[in-house]
Amino acid sequence: MWSRLLALMFACPALAWGGAARAQAVDCEASPVWNEAAMANAFSLNGLEWTPFNQIEWGWEAYVPILQKEIGRRCDPATGAFAEGLAAFQQRYGLPTTGVFDAATFTVLKGVVQERRPFIMARVRNECPEPPPLFQLGYLLPEEEHADRLTRLLRRDVLEAYRQMAAAARREVPAIAANPELLQIFSGFRDPEADAARCAQQGNCDGVRRAACSPHRTGAAVDLYVGHAPGLGVDSTAAESRLHMSRGAGYQWLVTNAGRFGFTPYLYEPWHWEYVGAAP
Ligand SMILES: [Zn+2]
Repeated sequence: MWSRLLALMFACPALAWGGAARAQAVDCEASPVWNEAAMANAFSLNGLEWTPFNQIEWGWEAYVPILQKEIGRRCDPATGAFAEGLAAFQQRYGLPTTGVFDAATFTVLKGVVQERRPFIMARVRNECPEPPPLFQLGYLLPEEEHADRLTRLLRRDVLEAYRQMAAAARREVPAIAANPELLQIFSGFRDPEADAARCAQQGNCDGVRRAACSPHRTGAAVDLYVGHAPGLGVDSTAAESRLHMSRGAGYQWLVTNAGRFGFTPYLYEPWHWEYVGAAP
């Protein structure tokens, strides 16, 4: 039975997952106790049919970088070490400690990550943060603006933190340094009235809710270019778009390092980051 499963695993290219393997740390050993969970994770990684964000998705590879960060194990999701780390996460939040990825574990992960965003906590209280006064906003430099940009303003302290973060990414990762487009900004501060008008006109802003109160009104939300799938936009929420972005050097570096500069992610949009001012 196991040998057949293993043979299947190695025969199926969809399971040859390389995203985290490239960045895999040395400490990815685990007790054989986790082998079965690892096997289940290897199969569901690209095959699980589920609905994490109101539409069917297959597999959970796009969320692996954030999972690895949260469980503190930068190990391939098909390893026992990943399953062991996932089980510890599940235990911390009162879930069954199976070490197997499932929708319930993802719901908790989503909550943990969302709660780090003051904007979301304000929305939970049914509040919509006021935009900053204009004098608190600063202009991006031309080389910081992506060609597909919507805006060129950001809150000054956020812009300063962004500059330090982008410089560090380029210093630390040759693949990021080699592509000046990576981590350029395609959206920063968006004036609420102009934003609502744009959404109404284009009808592409996830309905009235997002148009009515976008995190971009705070001047602390920033959309960073993290690559784009062929034929799809820099902010496409299509599953193949988000998967493509999650495999890129820019996104993987951000997930690991953006917290050092005060930025926190949004699970559903690999390009969207919010400045929270302190390492989470
Ligand atoms: Zn955004």
